[in-house]
Amino acid sequence: MGIIEENRRLEKIDKKYIWHPFTQMKEWLEEKPIIISEGRDCFIKDIYGRWYLDGVSSLWVNIHGHRKKEIDDAIKEQIDSISHSTLLGLSNVPSILLAEKLVEIVQKSLPPHPPLTKGGLKGGEINPSLPTDNPPLPPLSKGGMGGFEKERSGGITDSSLSKVFYSDNGSTSVEVALKMAFQYWRYKGIEGRNTFVSLNNAYHGDTIGAVSVGGIEIFHRAFEPLLFKTYKAPSPYCYRCELGKEYPGCSLACLDKMERIFKAHSRKIAAMIIEPMIQAAGGMITFPPGYLKGVRELCSQYNILMIADEVATGFGRTGRMFACEHEGVLPDLLCLSKGITGGYLPLAVTMTTEEVYNAFLGEFKDLKTFFHGHSYTGNPLACAAAIACLDLFEKEEVLKSLKEKIEILKTWLKEFLNLEHVGDVRNIGLMAGVELVKDKKTKEPYEWADKIGWRVAYHARENRVFVRPLGNVMVIMPPLCISPENLHQLLKVIRDAIVAVTED
Ligand code: PMP
Repeated sequence: MGIIEENRRLEKIDKKYIWHPFTQMKEWLEEKPIIISEGRDCFIKDIYGRWYLDGVSSLWVNIHGHRKKEIDDAIKEQIDSISHSTLLGLSNVPSILLAEKLVEIVQKSLPPHPPLTKGGLKGGEINPSLPTDNPPLPPLSKGGMGGFEKERSGGITDSSLSKVFYSDNGSTSVEVALKMAFQYWRYKGIEGRNTFVSLNNAYHGDTIGAVSVGGIEIFHRAFEPLLFKTYKAPSPYCYRCELGKEYPGCSLACLDKMERIFKAHSRKIAAMIIEPMIQAAGGMITFPPGYLKGVRELCSQYNILMIADEVATGFGRTGRMFACEHEGVLPDLLCLSKGITGGYLPLAVTMTTEEVYNAFLGEFKDLKTFFHGHSYTGNPLACAAAIACLDLFEKEEVLKSLKEKIEILKTWLKEFLNLEHVGDVRNIGLMAGVELVKDKKTKEPYEWADKIGWRVAYHARENRVFVRPLGNVMVIMPPLCISPENLHQLLKVIRDAIVAVTED
């Protein structure tokens, strides 16, 4: 069979058998699919030999580029030993070595629990400035939030994240965090903490627990009858502030709203879950300064566990190793996935403190075991890829190399803002969003049915740039290894596509 015939056959079979995620299949069936057969550096090649710049890091996962020798070699070497064995009642070499490395990196990047704000409250107390219908809880243990600030031998404080629980994708890392937080309180002897607080516009994955703490109408509404009840705090979306205020004059009024929820319901809340510094899938919504730190302080004041979902932001995407670093915040649980293997293999971890972990210790008969685990938990190939990926951060001084590229991105974004239909531009590190609006003055959005983001993306594709929008927001999230020249090219093609589609 000739190459053209083989390609046509692949297109036909794809349409016959594959149901693509987040895709209206009726449209897919009417279009010619792009089928990828190869990748190199920050480019992907289709079966006809056309190379595209990978403008979304193959769905926000790729870090060091495709076919990165060090990661390729690590996986090949691991295959020669063993590809998979279970972590249920067994261990394996790469998962142990990776856990050690992760703890080291996280402890270096994220500080011990910050002290409570001046005049702040010890764990369990309630802010007296608010009306009280929720009597104070006793502190959980000495030193406030579970004695987090107690020094351990070796200079590591109990507040550090030192326990690694493996799973295999971002959503499962979130499920694990929710279940751990929920059970933590029970095992501490505190009943009733059966729900969570999350933000409007939040996205934490597609499994039912993750959707329950999600806040994106379009994605999540359909499943409403299946979801458990959660409290939603306002999204810190300054361009379209839910409270009709403006930063910085607002003094972060959205945090006051969150505090009211904590104040009224803290005894029912197991944890607060948040994507630090940027709500990515919600539309690349970057946080105003001080917001994340404020959330951490509120969690500490009201004795609520803080879960940081760094599935999208982790591993350098925001210019720091972890987004929490930007405001010196240490969560009680940390979800990581996507970039952890450099975008090679599915792997996730939920990291937590000794305090949370210790609550699950008991006799076999006590049934305090954390009853959760997946078939591919701690997969050795994925862990070997992750170790190689993390080594590359050091070897290639990835974080240092980002500075110049972030400046390039910012300069272009400023230029984007001059376009007639660009309402807002937002970025942190190499994660960026360009919000397209029908009317810049009134901020009137395009209708969902206008498919404006998609039309821009299709235009960019014709110029060999692959991007995927989020509604009216163009997402720019290239692999961290992108060269300055390729970054310029990526941004130029997107800019030209926006002009061509919106100013026609
Ligand atoms: N959390 C965040 C912040 C995410 O951006 C995503 C995926 N985009 C997830 C969780 C879910 O990850 P996965 O798709 O691997 O399940």
